[in-house]
Amino acid sequence: MYLILLGAPGAGKGTQAHVLTDLIKIAHVSSGDLFRENIKNGTPIGIEAQGYINRGELVPDETVIEMIMEHLSTPACRNGALLDGFPRTIYQADALNEALREHFKEGISRVIYIKVDTDELLQRLSGRWICPVCQTPYHEINNPPRVKGKCDQEGAELYQRDDDKRSTAERRLQVYFNQTMPLIDYYKEHGLLLEINGQQPVEKVTRDIVTALEAIPANEGKKSIMLGETEESLVA
Ligand SMILES: [Zn+2]
Repeated sequence: MYLILLGAPGAGKGTQAHVLTDLIKIAHVSSGDLFRENIKNGTPIGIEAQGYINRGELVPDETVIEMIMEHLSTPACRNGALLDGFPRTIYQADALNEALREHFKEGISRVIYIKVDTDELLQRLSGRWICPVCQTPYHEINNPPRVKGKCDQEGAELYQRDDDKRSTAERRLQVYFNQTMPLIDYYKEHGLLLEINGQQPVEKVTRDIVTALEAIPANEGKKSIMLGETEESLVA
């Protein structure tokens, strides 16, 4: 079974990926991790990717897909995989699905989308404050200091790193949603999207995902789902 995991920064995607792969016994395949590994080990794909990166260019979709297919062919992925970080565009989604069907006679079964409201995401991403003296982290909502803006230990004035500022979080989320919303809509149109409420305790989110996955008919990915088919059949 091949699954895709989608979720904005702060939605808890990493946590769920970790728990899920353990529970449903499929490999977690992060395209970012794969790249770093290939580059570190100096594999042919790693060297090729490094070349693009050195020239300040994007690594072409074909190279990313080749790298993913190579990894999916290893024994670690014999039960399938939970893909994370790829695809990001509709074009990539089609190309990935096609490559999966060609290599493994099985396309994407489902796309898990962990949905969290923008307000909640902003709160999660931007509420962090740190003590400059003892480095204790605080969170406005989840873990506030006893006195607002002051460290509990020695009373130092707390500060916010640029990454934790609201404006930075807003920009990150805007970039994410601009890029990903078309993909989410696309998978929804194809009946592949499992929308999971991410504003629940971590264990409940996991349970909802597992329940939704259990409801998928056997061999679903091997059957009729052909992404991109609609356009082709229209032309024909
Ligand atoms: Zn302190």
